[in-house]
Amino acid sequence: MVFEAHERRTDKFPIPASVSMILGLLGAAGHEAYIAGGAVRDMLLGLVPHDFDISSSCSPDVTARILEDAGIRHLDNASVHGTVTAILEGGNIEITTFRVDGKYSDLRRPDSVTFAGSIEEDVRRRDFTVNSLYMDKDGSVRDVTGGIKDLEAGVIRTVGDPDERFGEDALRILRAMRFASRFGFRIEDETFAAMEKCADELKKISAERIASELNGIICGKDAPAVIRRCWRILGVIIPELALCHGFDQHTHFHDRDCLEHTLCVLEGIPLEEKEGSLPSRDLMLSMSALLHDLGKPECFKLDEYGTGHMRGHPEAGRRIAERVLTELKYPTAFTRDVCKLVAFHDVFTPQERTAVHRFLCDLGPDLYEKLKVLQRADIMAHSELGRRRIRRLEYMSEIADELKADGAVFAVKDLAISGSDVISLGCPEGPEVGKILNLLFEKYLAGEISNKRELLMESVKEMIS
Ligand code: ATP
Ligand code: MG
Repeated sequence: MVFEAHERRTDKFPIPASVSMILGLLGAAGHEAYIAGGAVRDMLLGLVPHDFDISSSCSPDVTARILEDAGIRHLDNASVHGTVTAILEGGNIEITTFRVDGKYSDLRRPDSVTFAGSIEEDVRRRDFTVNSLYMDKDGSVRDVTGGIKDLEAGVIRTVGDPDERFGEDALRILRAMRFASRFGFRIEDETFAAMEKCADELKKISAERIASELNGIICGKDAPAVIRRCWRILGVIIPELALCHGFDQHTHFHDRDCLEHTLCVLEGIPLEEKEGSLPSRDLMLSMSALLHDLGKPECFKLDEYGTGHMRGHPEAGRRIAERVLTELKYPTAFTRDVCKLVAFHDVFTPQERTAVHRFLCDLGPDLYEKLKVLQRADIMAHSELGRRRIRRLEYMSEIADELKADGAVFAVKDLAISGSDVISLGCPEGPEVGKILNLLFEKYLAGEISNKRELLMESVKEMIS
């Protein structure tokens, strides 16, 4: 590894007072102390870091003593990784002694760590050059891996030999994709080649860790470009996604292969701007966009005219989405909603109020707002012919807006009367109450009765008399 020494100052983001204070305390006691890793990268990019880690030449027990003498509460988890956590009002700060990691026999955590004397040693355990910058309390940056050059050029490159680094910890493969997606950086070629080579090792990484990286990858502003390049790698986690690559749908409604179409849909999910951080996309929509057409290859049939048909692909896609998200241990409610969006992505009801009302009841009005965004992105990723369907989406959405403006309700529980009202009118407690409410809701949906308390009460009286 060739080390370069750089000095760089930043005034794009001030170092928070609590961080300066800890750096000052360690410095005053004669130790080297720096902000390290992601926070330096973010500050140099003009972004607000979400946490600050400090790396220091000071041993964990001395660090703990310095904090104690200064009256700062701290957690001493030094026996694990040489980290002492200072508990401060502005947020906890982890102080880690410069260290060298031992072998990674579980591809997750080093078997041992050895304390090291310098940045030059500490840097070797870090994943990418842009994550290997150290900033002192005055804002001067120490760069021994060429991280600043890579940050300026927008390059993700491993520190040291990429095969070795991904071999030690396969999660770094997904981290590289996540940083590339979030910052719009390009993964350097040798780094990328090693990622592809080591991708199978991802099977050994826990579901939770994969899911957390996957979220970052798909929500980042450059997710489509990253997945376009890294689809083979993601195929280790979601095999059906790799099947979409090169899959020609043989229909006039599409002018891209299924993976390209999927990425176009993802691109069409709007980016949300957030103060101090980079624009990103909604997680549920990004996930639904990624998974929405995965059922196509298995449903594909070519007719005698050479046209492809993929009947049933939303349901097949729903099944795949359910399996993928369950395997990756996503929360049940998230899985349920993504599955609904996938299952409904191709549904356009008749342009008629009752049908749209029923549809909103099936889906839930909030999820319908998401479906609209997904359907719009999906339609716009079709060929010109396919894009004509946008009119149907617009009609449907106008009717849905009308319904909402008229105060329509979309669930039995939102009717103007409740179970206790039904009981007060003489219905015995038990399943009969629910049946009556369901019948009322049906009448309401069919337009036979409006959601007015007196009318509903009258109707219940008739039913139970
Ligand atoms: P984020 O903004 O997502 O927090 P980060 O770079 O701060 O990005 P962390 O997971 O908080 O990422 O880790 C802090 C630093 O620790 C990284 O910048 C990197 O130097 C190092 N690091 C974290 N995870 C790994 C890993 N799996 N392999 C090598 N170094 C890592
Ligand atoms: Mg961090």
